[in-house]
Amino acid sequence: MAAKPVVHEAINYLRNTQQRNGFFNAFVRVSPEREVTSQAMAASQRRETGKSLSPLDGTIFAIKDNICTKDMVTSCSSLMLVDFVPDYDATVVAKLKDAGAIIIGKTNMDEFGMGSHSTTGIHGPVKNPNSSKLSVYSAGGSSGGSAAAVAGNLCSGALGSDTGGSVRLPASYCGVVGFKPSYGLLSRRGLVAYANSLDTIGIFTRDVRYAQLIFDCLNEHDPTDPSSLDGRSRRKIKDHVSNQSRRWNIGVPVDYNVTEISPPLKKAWISTLAILRDLGHNVKPVNIPSTRHAVSSYYIIALAEASSNLAKYDGVQFGSHTAAISRPVSGISPSLQLVVAARERGFGKEVRRRILLGNYSLTSEAMENYFVDAQRSRRLIKEDFDGIFSSPNPLGSRQGPSLGTEAGVDFLISPVSISSAPNLEEVARMGVTGVDNYINDVFTVPASMAGLPAISVPVHGDKDLPIGVQVTAQYGDEKKLFEAATLIE
Ligand code: GLN
Repeated sequence: MAAKPVVHEAINYLRNTQQRNGFFNAFVRVSPEREVTSQAMAASQRRETGKSLSPLDGTIFAIKDNICTKDMVTSCSSLMLVDFVPDYDATVVAKLKDAGAIIIGKTNMDEFGMGSHSTTGIHGPVKNPNSSKLSVYSAGGSSGGSAAAVAGNLCSGALGSDTGGSVRLPASYCGVVGFKPSYGLLSRRGLVAYANSLDTIGIFTRDVRYAQLIFDCLNEHDPTDPSSLDGRSRRKIKDHVSNQSRRWNIGVPVDYNVTEISPPLKKAWISTLAILRDLGHNVKPVNIPSTRHAVSSYYIIALAEASSNLAKYDGVQFGSHTAAISRPVSGISPSLQLVVAARERGFGKEVRRRILLGNYSLTSEAMENYFVDAQRSRRLIKEDFDGIFSSPNPLGSRQGPSLGTEAGVDFLISPVSISSAPNLEEVARMGVTGVDNYINDVFTVPASMAGLPAISVPVHGDKDLPIGVQVTAQYGDEKKLFEAATLIE
């Protein structure tokens, strides 16, 4: 007798994982086959008896390795957390499980989410499923494992985290949909913090509608996450949900037209706009001048927050004990020596670099010039965005005539990255961790700094490699965002 569809699908994903993960290196841990198939059988039975828990019942999910999973190592691709086994599920994981989803494994990433190519972690680089025999391409980062798992058909959907682009960039490189919600909508409880004022849980799928379905399942206030948007504010968003059935005003951010964009990407950007114009929508240029400072201010704020978040890993109370003293450090007490050794061994080069930069920007001599200035620029970025959208920011405190005007735009269309996926040799040549790599985030960090929802939708790129076009909308305007994204997929 043929296997039931749910079970059949689960078995297919398991087989694909067994056959392909050796090359992709997308998963760092795979759930036992027995567990996955027995959960699939239970879901199949529920479906047959009309008792499915949700549309996600029996679907196969991958979870980035910085999102806590009960009784399953959550390493953040760091030696520091190599033996960390959480005793609880992150809220988003618990919600997926409640909906009947099956967790097939944990995915590879840049250490603590710091990077753009999934090359800075302890598990080795993720390889883009679009690689050929001649070229092995970057899967993007930091959620490269989740993107590759979806692109390589190892699961139906995956969770990642997006602090400054870590869902959208790998989605763009791998050719899948990558969605980052408005800050505060999806619970961060159980997401190991990189930069908490920017961190969001993100979603990878092969089509936009499925991303929306998953988002709807996870989008709920979580009283255990202090940054989760409360019910009152959520109602304000509902009140602002705009009319879906009219001609859109589509903004093209002229400040994003930087010289670094590769010609094929520019071409893809222009043809997406042409498609939308042909569908009868208005396309118009908009200025968001402050976004020119977005990358530099992002790297000050994110690193300052990271240095504080990672301060707790001392190898004693938090972090692995395996990082034993490698060489004695003179002039400090033996107990401090232990901490120094644990941090020196437990963190990789890029993480240590960022902790140092972050700590420096918070010192009294640098604070005013760096951290405070970056916060000012973040406020300007938010104000610039608020000034161009047709709908007002439902949480915005600034009210003015420029907010929510008819002349404003419904959403923005831009590239996600400056080029399609570079090959991994090129990445290594650029210096895996060099600050030059930070340019990759030029189109993704502005939405992160303003807390706005954004989605990467795959379009045809160069060299047969996919590339992503990004749609960005006003805070809380997810509905419109998904609507727009379906038009270009
Ligand atoms: N590449 C960016 C960084 O390294 C974004 C990372 C992320 O979103 N986690 O900070």
